[in-house]
Amino acid sequence: MAGRLDNYLVTAQPYYSEQGNEVLHYEKAYARRLPVLLKGPTGVGKTRFIEYMAHRLKRPLITVACNEDMTASDLVGRYLLDSSGLSWQDGPLAQAVRHGAICYLDEVIEARQDTTVIIHPLTDSRRILPVDKKGEVIHAHPDFQLVVSYNPGYQSHSKDMKPSTRQRFVALSFDYPDPEAEAQILVQESDVNIDIARSLVSVGQHTRALTSRGLAEGASTRMLVYAAFLIRDGMLPADSCEMTLVQALTDDPDLTLALQALIKARFG
Ligand code: ADP
Repeated sequence: MAGRLDNYLVTAQPYYSEQGNEVLHYEKAYARRLPVLLKGPTGVGKTRFIEYMAHRLKRPLITVACNEDMTASDLVGRYLLDSSGLSWQDGPLAQAVRHGAICYLDEVIEARQDTTVIIHPLTDSRRILPVDKKGEVIHAHPDFQLVVSYNPGYQSHSKDMKPSTRQRFVALSFDYPDPEAEAQILVQESDVNIDIARSLVSVGQHTRALTSRGLAEGASTRMLVYAAFLIRDGMLPADSCEMTLVQALTDDPDLTLALQALIKARFG
């Protein structure tokens, strides 16, 4: 690694509550440098998990939040004009491939199609990154690993991950934790008391059931952590939930009333 990626080392151990055998299973995949797909709804610990694993394995972690404007050049790199002329700047993926980091492409299919083409030769036995603009082929450092995340329920059908891409990955599935485990996460993250944590989790579970009534997605663990933070900081639970859950989850008047009723039932 030659110290090139020291800035990307995860120095403090992140708190991560394991939900199954994902730590061991990921370690096995990493030992073979298999590309890994983390799938599951938003806010259920995928990013926290990869941070935890990078720390545990003492590997640098380069994270890229993908979006619809992102192109292959954003990942691979580009020539930049500075006072000394044109100079090549590796993008985050090229840096990880060249120097041996775990590269985490969060919500990978949000990015434009050309990024998929880029990752294919990195996810088979070739382990190469062609840098066309530079006429270079980077052979992946032995420690390089590609990890991507994907939320199967969220994207429109046109953005489903293509079989030809997803079959290049081994996959770990993430879901909302069991209620008691989720309450413990809230306590750990926010220091809220356990009774409040359990009540928030109960509200969260009910919101997840509202997807059958048109809610796009139920409350994530992340949202419940936010609600717990504000309660811990002295906000009334109903006010905190209004801000962190109700208004954040929907604009629909009927769903708003349904969510407010859930919160009133729990917190009065
Ligand atoms: P994702 O990447 O799945 O969208 P994150 O990893 O960002 O979600 O998780 C959102 C937040 O939820 C984290 O910052 C953390 O507070 C909490 N969280 C969710 N699951 C866990 C877990 N298993 N252990 C610890 N914290 C968790």
